Amino acid sequence: MHFTPEHEALRKTVRDFVEKELNPHIDEWEEAGEFPIHEVFKKLGNLGLLGIHKPEEYGGMGLDYSYNLVAAEELGMTKCGGVPLAIGVQTDMCTPAISRFGSDELKRDYLAPAIAGDMVGSIGVSEVGAGSDVAGLKTSAKKDGDDYVINGSKMWITNSPKADFICLLANTSDDKPHKNKTLIVVPMNTPGITLSPHLNKLGMRSSETAQVFFDDVRVPQRNRIGAEGTGFMCQMIQFQEERMWGAANMLKALENCIDQTIEYCRERKTFGQPLINNQYIHFRLAELQTEVEALRALTYKACELHIAGKDVTQLASMAKLKGGRLGREVTDACLQYWGGNGYMWENPLARAYRDVRLASIGGGADEIMLGIICKTMNILPGKQKG
Ligand SMILES: Cc1cc2nc3c(=O)[nH]c(=O)nc-3n(C[C@H](O)[C@H](O)[C@H](O)COP(=O)(O)OP(=O)(O)OC[C@H]3O[C@@H](n4cnc5c(N)ncnc54)[C@H](O)[C@@H]3O)c2cc1C
Repeated sequence: MHFTPEHEALRKTVRDFVEKELNPHIDEWEEAGEFPIHEVFKKLGNLGLLGIHKPEEYGGMGLDYSYNLVAAEELGMTKCGGVPLAIGVQTDMCTPAISRFGSDELKRDYLAPAIAGDMVGSIGVSEVGAGSDVAGLKTSAKKDGDDYVINGSKMWITNSPKADFICLLANTSDDKPHKNKTLIVVPMNTPGITLSPHLNKLGMRSSETAQVFFDDVRVPQRNRIGAEGTGFMCQMIQFQEERMWGAANMLKALENCIDQTIEYCRERKTFGQPLINNQYIHFRLAELQTEVEALRALTYKACELHIAGKDVTQLASMAKLKGGRLGREVTDACLQYWGGNGYMWENPLARAYRDVRLASIGGGADEIMLGIICKTMNILPGKQKG
């Protein structure tokens, strides 16, 4: 990965935004369980940060994915995971398919406002009975005249309480599970949509999450992304950017945990010595930093190949897997060296420990990543017959 002065300028813009517009408010937002998402997204939109690798025609910067990676990395310096997650949903989870497969009309109506920060988006794939097993989802969109009529529900939907639209994966036929799905953009103010109260989460406290119910929700068929029946494939492609974004966002967040722990261990004395002087501790911190560099190399390689137009299913899945596991390892190890202070709710390592736990579950759990990697290695046994 070769970073140019333009990459560094973008990095500084994101860093300044995190320091000035996000970090001073994070404690308050985490406590409140929400943040002013429209206000924050409008500011990000004004800086162009919601459309870094989206087409210029729709207000994006038209840059390649390496710039997006730099921004995702820098957002990791936010003092929580919830706000970056909400931003990542907007830039890399609910808009890539519209950008890649959507009609010009859809892009004007939803992508352009999402890039400008005038609309908040969400992604609706998971259901109560179908998280890992995406093919098993039950929400249906049946044709009626020029419309789809949607029934069902989506679970754990990030941003949904304040979202203006949801990029929804629904069954549009009775064909085989990989061929019967379609992605549809549904405005959240459509009659028939209701939400559960906010879900009470272990971490990511400032990001808002709810269950979304669809009861005879009518949307025009022109809100479909791409051809009917291609939704599963479109969503699997959309997942690639989600997974690379997640891995990139982990890098600085974990380094920040290590750096804060080094600082703490320099100041904290036990037995007349700073904690950091214990070889067990400084060696462990060096090991963790080495692991973060390995994750960086893996993530950068996935990004480079993605830019070159190669299939990065294997590398993006590896980066997602490694990111989730390393996130747990680093936050757990670092929290330990903060002792009792680390066990306090408000402690930065305690927050990171809670927030990072999602990375091994959301967007495809570790075991799902292992299954995908096995498939690309051709070592996944076929399903046993009868
Ligand atoms: C805070 C939060 C935000 C989220 N945001 C969104 C969102 O915005 N949009 C959205 O669509 N979804 C969202 N999700 C849902 C998330 O993607 C799912 O929780 C995830 O895909 C796992 O699905 P599940 O919870 O149904 O777990 P299950 O599918 O029930 O699996 C449970 C566990 O079993 C294991 N497992 C599953 N399958 C296998 C297997 N084949 N082999 C071995 N082990 C296996 C895994 O460890 C997995 O964690 C969010 C979830 C959370 C918690």
